[in-house]
Amino acid sequence: MKIKTGDKVKILQGKDKGKQGKIIQVMLKDNKVVVEGVNLYIKHVKPKREREKGQRVEFPAPMDVSKVMFVCPRCAKAARVGHKVLENGKRVRICGKCEDVV
Ligand SMILES: [Zn+2]
Repeated sequence: MKIKTGDKVKILQGKDKGKQGKIIQVMLKDNKVVVEGVNLYIKHVKPKREREKGQRVEFPAPMDVSKVMFVCPRCAKAARVGHKVLENGKRVRICGKCEDVV
């Protein structure tokens, strides 16, 4: 997967289409990501004790990685992520638009 935790992404599909957010979790096995403040669902938490009220907790649900696109922190454009091998043999990610290392 080309996207990693902390990356900014743009939502391409679903109820939050067009929004941008930060990746807070990457689930490599499922090809899913969790984006901060996006794809929010409400979970009802039952009261643990008597007299306590149940709570509604909002949480971002995992979404398919194909529904998000990387946003370059340098040029702020949604871009494809490319790779480049540096002279020292290190592999780095580059922005498909401005070709800066990201
Ligand atoms: Zn860029």
